[in-house]
Amino acid sequence: MKKATKVLTLALAVVMLTGVLTACGGGSKNGDTLTFGTNAEFPPFEFVTSNGVIGEYDGIDMAIAKQIADANGMTVAIENMEFDSLLVALQNGQIDAVIAGMTATDERRETVDFSTTYYTATQVMIVKEDSDITKATDMADKKICVVQGYTGEVCVQGMGYSYEAFKKGTEAVLELVNGKCDVVVIDSATAQKYVGDNEGLKIVEDASAFESEEYAIAVQKGNTELLDKINASIEKMLSDGTINELAVKYTEETSAE
Ligand code: GLN
Repeated sequence: MKKATKVLTLALAVVMLTGVLTACGGGSKNGDTLTFGTNAEFPPFEFVTSNGVIGEYDGIDMAIAKQIADANGMTVAIENMEFDSLLVALQNGQIDAVIAGMTATDERRETVDFSTTYYTATQVMIVKEDSDITKATDMADKKICVVQGYTGEVCVQGMGYSYEAFKKGTEAVLELVNGKCDVVVIDSATAQKYVGDNEGLKIVEDASAFESEEYAIAVQKGNTELLDKINASIEKMLSDGTINELAVKYTEETSAE
């Protein structure tokens, strides 16, 4: 190769590399847009409404996502999909991050990285008001409903009980309301919302059976650039009380509907 050609080739390579770096700028796949994947079936964290904080999407997580994008001078976008598809979409690069009331479990940590915890929850049991279930082991001979892919399913599986899995929390709760199942195992804040929305239900807790769960935002493994930005925003929102305020606001709002 002649010297002039070599220089030109090198110059071209630098230009191309710069282009690639710019396209990946900010740790997001699409320059100044930060795309979060969610499953908007999980009030008070994410749900569809007429006038949400991000288009039709509203809830604690949606407000947090918007503030993270705002704090970094980026535009926020939401992709709504099934809960089960979220981590695959993240790994494929279809979305930049997942915010979905998602518990940071060791199993999930094998494929993605998680941010600082922004909310702590636990699994609870939703039962009819006259139910004789008072602890998790009482579920042994009952018909149990869970939501597919949620940590509630993992818990019940771990206890060795059989169960039926539904695509949505509302479907599982409807089954309970209609007397077709005896108990729904689901996250605490979401359970409160469903109990508020439906007559004749109550929550049964069992701290000895259900560990506390930490909600965090997931990013692709190794995307430290984006993770650092997300963590800085979360830490600020935790210390200045924003996340607390959002939790209070959306818990009250959604149960007053
Ligand atoms: N926290 C539960 C989980 O991570 C449920 C999350 C959700 O339904 N959005 O599996």
